Amino acid sequence: MAQTPPSSGPDPSLTELLTARPHLTYSEAGLCQEGIPLAPIAAHAGTPCWVYGAATLRNRFRTLRQAMDTVQTRTGQPVNIHYAVKANSHLAVLRLLAGEGAGADVVSGGELLRAREAGIQARHVAFSGVGKSPDELRLALRQGIGQINVESAAELDMIAAAAAETGAMARVAVRVNPDVDAHTHAKITTGLEENKFGVPMRDAAALYAQAARLPGVQPVGLATHIGSQISQLQPYRDAFARLAGLVRDLRTQGHTVQSVDCGGGLGISYRTETEADPMGFADILASEMAGLDVTLAIEPGRWLVGPAGVLVASVVLNKQTGERRFMVLDAAMNDLMRPAMYEAWHGILPLNHTDAPISPVDVVGPVCETGDSFATARELPDLEAESLVALLDAGAYGAVMSSCYNTRPLAAEVMVDGASQRWSIIRPRQPVEALWRDEEIPDWLNATPHSDAA
Ligand SMILES: *Cc1c(COP(=O)(O)O)cnc(C)c1O
Repeated sequence: MAQTPPSSGPDPSLTELLTARPHLTYSEAGLCQEGIPLAPIAAHAGTPCWVYGAATLRNRFRTLRQAMDTVQTRTGQPVNIHYAVKANSHLAVLRLLAGEGAGADVVSGGELLRAREAGIQARHVAFSGVGKSPDELRLALRQGIGQINVESAAELDMIAAAAAETGAMARVAVRVNPDVDAHTHAKITTGLEENKFGVPMRDAAALYAQAARLPGVQPVGLATHIGSQISQLQPYRDAFARLAGLVRDLRTQGHTVQSVDCGGGLGISYRTETEADPMGFADILASEMAGLDVTLAIEPGRWLVGPAGVLVASVVLNKQTGERRFMVLDAAMNDLMRPAMYEAWHGILPLNHTDAPISPVDVVGPVCETGDSFATARELPDLEAESLVALLDAGAYGAVMSSCYNTRPLAAEVMVDGASQRWSIIRPRQPVEALWRDEEIPDWLNATPHSDAA
């Protein structure tokens, strides 16, 4: 499968990591996020803990909002921002973004209920995903969901059935797979024909026509989502051009098309990648979608929340094996899964600023898997046991992907707000007993075969 490495060249230095992230600074109290020292937070919440910056979240949303407003100015078409809840679904994050005017893109009934709980109106929610269950479809329709993105003919039938059962009108958008290569990691590319998402361009019109024939179903438009962590914008131009062409074809065939949902995928800079530029993206959106007379939507996840979060961890111990130096953290792959799952690179900064010499070290977690590694040969100073470090850009696909593997409780989550210089624990670390609270030992296990023997 076509794949380009996310970024090459030497790692950024600790200073370069810091200067590229103005929301992180060192003070006498050590590393601060939005001006708030992280060490006392770690002391309160325990480590590992996630820390999300509210001011950073607001700034990023507003930057994207302003860029989308230029699309409206240029084309007369409004652009709704539907935050992709799966990137970070904490209620406080959802509430903050809802307060800024975000709708939501959800991929499960659970995410829909979360978005509702955080105060996002159902009509501002779109439901994506290749395998929505009948239960989830009924739930979505009963809630009054704004739009269901239909990804196959089989699903369209299920939506029609759910509409009949609930008596609700299902507004659907046909999710097309434009067959463009987003030039991202193979595990997060979604817009190639070989991927499981959406329907091929050539089948889209037939599915749209089928939707128009079904009672209880109203086709409202098209949707796409070509992948994640996209830093070169050209694939968007190609995809949007194809979508716009399809809108025109559908209209020629007599269909009504009211909306185009352009998906998410805007990339951020973890290492040396260039962050996707909202104005550049807006420019592509405006030029490719001009004159369609539709309502546009985008579904960003990572771009909004990724840079706004860190994972603070403590050094458990250092060990030397032959030539290799290992730094073992109390955070592990069960907390931040991206390095193990996608070979993702995350910057690592010590909480205490130090001018000590740096040397290569493998930064690993304590979980019993070789894949439980955050970094290989990372240039870091010697940090003694109990020193704290921050893993950067962990706000997206971080806590939401955590598991309790190795009976490790879910880490605490914290929100800081540089604007008011306040912080709160927004989810305490899970008590370890909670991990087996719902487990039951069946009675019949107590009668052991040996005691039954005569
Ligand atoms: C995951 C997903 C997104 C968000 O992707 P990001 O790369 O986080 O922006 C948007 N839309 C759909 C349908 C998705 O599955």
